[in-house]
Amino acid sequence: MQVCKTLTKLQGKHVYVRSDSDPRIKYEIWTGTLGKTIPTCECESYKWSKDDVCKHIRRIFNKTCGWGEEWSDDKQNSRQRKAMLCPLCGGKTVEVKYALT
Ligand SMILES: [Zn+2]
Ligand SMILES: [Zn+2]
Repeated sequence: MQVCKTLTKLQGKHVYVRSDSDPRIKYEIWTGTLGKTIPTCECESYKWSKDDVCKHIRRIFNKTCGWGEEWSDDKQNSRQRKAMLCPLCGGKTVEVKYALT
């Protein structure tokens, strides 16, 4: 499956996000690895979240295009597919072996 290259930059990384309510607090976010692990955050709202997401994770991923063949409504046309271009941002895509579950 093809995913936008912007997404692959956010894989397998530890990222720190400052707390809104207390700037002294930083949360460590694991960005996940495609198809293997999902993004996690150490904040309380993540712990209690039913859909395994919190505003910190959203904030990080909202900055990226994040297009993926498997989970995005926008589909590539045949030209984009051949040229490996992202239908959302027009950037390059990369082929990844794993599917998100
Ligand atoms: Zn969080
Ligand atoms: Zn894109």
